[in-house]
Amino acid sequence: MIYLDNAATSGKKPESVIKAVNYALNNFSANAGRGGYKLAVDASNAIYRVREKVSSFFGASSPLKVAFCPNCTHAINYVIKGVMSNGGHIAVSDLEHNAVMRPVYKTNCDYTVVETSFTDDKITTQNFENAIREDTRLVICTAVSNVTGKIMPIREIGEVCKRKGVLFLVDGAQGGGVVPINVGKYNIDFLCIASHKGLLSPMGTGILIAESDIPDTVIEGGNGINSLELKQDSEMPEGFESGTLCLPNIMGIGAGIDFISKIGIEEIYEKEMNITSFFYENLAELKDVILYTPYPEKLSFAPVLSFNIKEKHSEEIAEYLDKNGIAVRGGFHCSYSAHNKLNTTDVGTVRISPSFLNSMNEAKYTVNVVKKYNLFLKS
Ligand code: PLP
Repeated sequence: MIYLDNAATSGKKPESVIKAVNYALNNFSANAGRGGYKLAVDASNAIYRVREKVSSFFGASSPLKVAFCPNCTHAINYVIKGVMSNGGHIAVSDLEHNAVMRPVYKTNCDYTVVETSFTDDKITTQNFENAIREDTRLVICTAVSNVTGKIMPIREIGEVCKRKGVLFLVDGAQGGGVVPINVGKYNIDFLCIASHKGLLSPMGTGILIAESDIPDTVIEGGNGINSLELKQDSEMPEGFESGTLCLPNIMGIGAGIDFISKIGIEEIYEKEMNITSFFYENLAELKDVILYTPYPEKLSFAPVLSFNIKEKHSEEIAEYLDKNGIAVRGGFHCSYSAHNKLNTTDVGTVRISPSFLNSMNEAKYTVNVVKKYNLFLKS
């Protein structure tokens, strides 16, 4: 099978990640932070070492700014609901995932959807600046769109937020491990990561990096500290780590970061973008294929590409590819905003998202299958 749905989750986990998960199950089966005996302390120390790796990989100010959550969606909910608990206004991009838009909607706070540009990052940044009001508390922008692959100018938006004294949340679900993100250098207050995607680790764990205070908790329970008090502190990291952590997955995250660091994020990105450009160039030649973005220039786009074939539903195309042994996602990619922007709320899009573990031969085969389908539709 040719797996081209890495924006949903990375299809092939490196052997070292699988080994790290196995090692944890064999050697650290104690509840970290819930006991004073050696095995529980070893488990806590193992988690701390991964906090250190995450902190240094994303340029956080301390490992204690890193919390592990059930997934990126939880991390985003913690920030939006915790920060907005006292009201205020939110400015959010027009390419956000429902993991952002649904919690924003749920807060009942006033929000502005900021128009972004595929071709001019200065316009995007200026639009964010224009949207910030006196009562704006939070600016939210994805690092990379999960539908169009557009890399957002988060560094520039971060500068605006710092100048205006507004908190900045970056949804790093698609960007983490794919493009460089540095919390300190980019003035990011909150970064949420879906580690099962770009960090090549298991599903079921996400990361919250919080450089600024989140005044309120969202999920309360046992977190190994202040156990005799009923009110839970919202201090990082334990304030956002209620309940038992998934230590095997956390070890997998550490191994995923090591794997990427060893090869180099730039080298991985380069290969992924060569495959993505190949798809774009070849699909653009087909008369009935619709592409939604300009050519995916490096540094402006990440390896995520949406297309359609005229008068077909994206799910039918994805189904045809599946019958030919190719896994891509059709339909709506949990992003009402992006489909609204692309005018695809009727048919969705077919999304191709290669990883550097895909080969050019797989890309060629896939393009040929799309060509065959296109010809078949015309005959
Ligand atoms: N944000 C974006 C841009 C995503 O693409 C996704 C997942 O597809 C999420 C958030 C949510 O990630 P998770 O499902 O790991 O919580």
